[in-house]
Amino acid sequence: MQKAIFLDRDGTINEDIGYFCDPDRLEFIPRAFEALRLLQQSFVLFIVTNQSGVARKYFSEDDLVTFNKYIQDELKKQGIHIRQTYYCPHLREDNCECHKPNDFFLKAAEESYGLDLKGSYVIGDHPHDIELAHNVGAGSVYVLTGHGKKHFEEITAQPDHVAPTIYEAARWIDQYKDE
Ligand SMILES: [Mg+2]
Ligand SMILES: [Zn+2]
Repeated sequence: MQKAIFLDRDGTINEDIGYFCDPDRLEFIPRAFEALRLLQQSFVLFIVTNQSGVARKYFSEDDLVTFNKYIQDELKKQGIHIRQTYYCPHLREDNCECHKPNDFFLKAAEESYGLDLKGSYVIGDHPHDIELAHNVGAGSVYVLTGHGKKHFEEITAQPDHVAPTIYEAARWIDQYKDE
């Protein structure tokens, strides 16, 4: 069975500038490409992102889908293959089943692609990314980019590792993945 990396989007792969859906404002985190190229040697890559900007009507779901595709295409130009991007368009208050830290999308990916979730990892800059990992028994790395520093004190579920950026997160996972 294949193992996966479930990547948060804003603040983890690209700079988090608040709710946005605009290619002109997309800026990748430094060395994110190197990190993802390293990870995809051993893992299938997915993006799992909460995008409540849809529910807040800051942008439409169609625009979000187009923008997510744009991000995947930009990554593809760098030799990085994202198997699928999963997004929750709801508010936390909607109590939907797909809002992180709910494990809905990870279970869906497991079902669709036959993944080994226990051997997989979540990388993210929010405590709910770590809770998400715990919910399926996956490993987790908390990054200090994006909102990572701001929310660090709020972590309840312990990450396996804390890394300054996705680059160090990838190096750490690559080193310890078989243990
Ligand atoms: Mg984030
Ligand atoms: Zn949802």
